[in-house]
Amino acid sequence: MKGVGPMRADMLKKELQIFTFEDLLFYFPFKHLDKTQIHTIATITPAMDFVQVRGRLISMEVVGEKRGRRLVAHLRDASGIIELTWFQGINWVQKMLLVGNDYVAFGRLSFFLGKPQLSHPEIESLKESNESGKNFLEPIYSVTEKLKARGLNGRALGKLMYQLFLVLEEKEITENIPLNILQHQGMCSRWNALRQIHFPKNHLQYEEALIRLKFEELFISQLRWGMMRSARHRYSRGILFSKVATHFNDFFHQHLPFPLTGAQKRVLKEIRQDMGSGIQMNRLLQGDVGSGKTIVALMTMLIALDNGCQACIMAPTEILAGQHFEQFSKLLNPLNISVALLTGSTKSADRKSILKGIEDGSIQIVVGTHALIEDVVKFKNLGLAVVDEQHKFGVAQRAKLWKKNTVPPHMLVMTATPIPRTLAMTAYGDLDYSVIDELPPGRTPITTVHRLDDARPQVMDFIKAEILKGRQVYFIFPLIEESEKLQYEDLMRGFENVKAWFPEPTFWISMVHGRMPSDQKEINMQRFVKGETQIMVSTTVIEVGVNVPNASVMIIESAEKFGLSQLHQLRGRVGRGSEKSFCILLTSNGIGKDAKERISIMCQTTDGFKIAEKDLELRGPGDIQGTRQSGAMNFKLADISADRGLLEQAKLSADRLLKSDPDIKKPEHGALKAFLQTDNADTPWGKIS
Ligand code: ADP
Ligand code: MG
Repeated sequence: MKGVGPMRADMLKKELQIFTFEDLLFYFPFKHLDKTQIHTIATITPAMDFVQVRGRLISMEVVGEKRGRRLVAHLRDASGIIELTWFQGINWVQKMLLVGNDYVAFGRLSFFLGKPQLSHPEIESLKESNESGKNFLEPIYSVTEKLKARGLNGRALGKLMYQLFLVLEEKEITENIPLNILQHQGMCSRWNALRQIHFPKNHLQYEEALIRLKFEELFISQLRWGMMRSARHRYSRGILFSKVATHFNDFFHQHLPFPLTGAQKRVLKEIRQDMGSGIQMNRLLQGDVGSGKTIVALMTMLIALDNGCQACIMAPTEILAGQHFEQFSKLLNPLNISVALLTGSTKSADRKSILKGIEDGSIQIVVGTHALIEDVVKFKNLGLAVVDEQHKFGVAQRAKLWKKNTVPPHMLVMTATPIPRTLAMTAYGDLDYSVIDELPPGRTPITTVHRLDDARPQVMDFIKAEILKGRQVYFIFPLIEESEKLQYEDLMRGFENVKAWFPEPTFWISMVHGRMPSDQKEINMQRFVKGETQIMVSTTVIEVGVNVPNASVMIIESAEKFGLSQLHQLRGRVGRGSEKSFCILLTSNGIGKDAKERISIMCQTTDGFKIAEKDLELRGPGDIQGTRQSGAMNFKLADISADRGLLEQAKLSADRLLKSDPDIKKPEHGALKAFLQTDNADTPWGKIS
C-alpha cells in the first residue's frame, strides 16, 4: 500500500496485529473529529472541545525567546478574531502561510484571558480545503506509544485508511446478511457500513454503520449458537428415558418434604420432555439462591434411576457436596436407593469400594466434587450428570462428564448466579434453559442496610440481641486477591475483633477460610450447622450453597470490596428459615461512586435478576463470573447490555432463518454460508458440536 514500506508494515504487524488490507479495514476508529461544521468565531465558547474556523490570515509573527519562542498568527472571519499558535515547526509553517490569504483551521480549543486560541491547529488554504473535500468527520484510531514515536499516530493511520479505500472496490466486500433480513431491519449494506464507520459524512451515517456492524456481530453469533443447538437436537444421540416409574412416583407421592412450587413443577416438566425425546438433554437451570434447585436435581436423578441408569451430581466444594449427600441420604432413605459421596478427602479404603460400586452399578447416585471427573471414576451406566453452581466450573470440566458414558449422559447444569437473558443468550447460547423464578412460600424478606464503621457499636448490640434470641450470625471478610497472606492476616484481625465483642462462654465462634485443612474446615462448619457455635467468621468460601436455616444475620465487612453478584450470593446464606433476616453492609466513610451504587442496589432489591442486570450494566460482560472464556464478550462493537434490543432482533432473525433453512442450503444464503465457513471465530463449543 502506498505509504507503507517494510518498516511500517513491520510496525503495524507487531503493534496492532495488522497484516492485511482486511485487518486494516476492520481496525475501527475510536472517535471522529467533527469537521462537519465551520464555527463563526464569535460563537465559540469554552465549552467546545475541537473547533473548525474559516477566515483571512491577518497577522503572523514570531515572538518570545528560547523556550517561549513561538509563532503567533491571527485569523479573522466576519464575526471576530482567533489566535493561532505554534511552538514547533515554526519555519515550516511560516513558509506555508501567507498573510492576506484565506484558510480553514481546525484544532483543540483553549481560552487565554477570555480569548479563544488554537495551538498547533491543522491549517489549509481555503482552495485546497475545498478540493480535498473537507467538511467531514475525521477518524482517529488508537495506536501504541511505539507507533506514535515512529510517526504513525491516530490520525496518520487515518491516512492509510484513506489509501485503502482508494484501492478497495465494492465488489470485494461481499454482503453476508441475507437481503430480506437487511431490508426488514432497514439496515445499510456491508460495504456502506465499512466505509461509513471510517469515513462518515455526518453523525447519522456513522450511527447507521455502527448499528449495521453490531447487528452483524450479534446475528452471526446467534446463528452459530442456533446451528449448534439445532445440530444437537437433530443428530446427537441421547439416552431415551421413556418412563417415569416407582422411584420418582414413590418419592413424589409419599416422601416429598413440601409441595413443589409452580416453577419447580414447570421446570421438571421441561426436563422430562428433554429426557424423553431420545436426544441428549443439555439444559441450564437458573434459579436464585434459595429457589429450590436441589430438589429438582434430586427428582431428575430419580427419573434416571427409573430408566435403569445411574446419576451423579458435582458440586464445587466439599462442604456443599457433603450437604447434598446428607440431604439426599435422608430423603432417599425410605426408598432403598444407594447413595455415595466421593470427594478428594474420601478415605482410600472407602474410596476403593465406592469406585467399585460405581463401576459395577451397585451405587446408583454419586454426590461429589471435582473428584468425580477423574479418570479412575468409571460408571456402569451414567444416564444423568448434574453440575451444581456451574459458574464455579470451567467448560472443560463440564465436558469431561459427557465422556463418562458411551452415549453422552443428559446434562443439567444449575446456577444461582442469575444470568441476564442477554448474557445467557450470548454466553450459553448452546444450552436450552429453564428458570425457577419463584421462591418457596413462607420466606420472610431480608432487610438490607448500609452502615458506616463508626456505627459498629450499635451494630454489635443489635447482633448480640439477635443471638440471644437464638439466631446465628455470619461475619464475612473480603477476599483480597493480590495477597493470600494479607487476606489471612485481615481475617485473623477480624476474628480477634469479633471475639472481643462476643466473648466466650456466652458466645462461641466458628471460623472457616481457604487456607484451613479441609477436615478442620469441615469440623468448624459442622459446629455451626449444628448450632454449637452462634457465629461464623469466614471469607467468601461459604459463598456457595451452604444451608443453615437458623442463621438470620449476615454482616459483610468492607462491603465495598465485593462485586454485586458476590454480595447477592453471600446474602443468600440468610433468609432461609422462617425468622426475619438481616444483611448489614459495613463500609468506611469514603467509598467510591461505583461501590456506593452497588451497595444502594443491594439495599433496594433482593431480586437476583435485577441485580444481575445491574451488574452487567456496571461492569460489562467481561467481568461477570463464569463468562470469561465463554465468548460473550468477544464482540468488537456490540455491548450486550446497552445493545439488548439489537441482540433480541439478531436472535429473532437467526432463529427465523434457521427454521426455514436449517442447513443454510438455499441459494440466497450462499454468501452467508461462505462467510460462516471462512470466519472461524472461536467459540468454546466449536469442538463439541
Ligand atoms: P438453591 O436453589 O439455592 O440450591 P435449595 O435447593 O438449597 O436452594 O433450597 C433452599 C431451601 O428451600 C432448602 O432448605 C429447601 O429444602 C427449601 N425448599 C426447596 N423447595 C421448597 C418448596 N417447594 N417449599 C418449601 N421449601 C422448599
Ligand atoms: Mg444450591
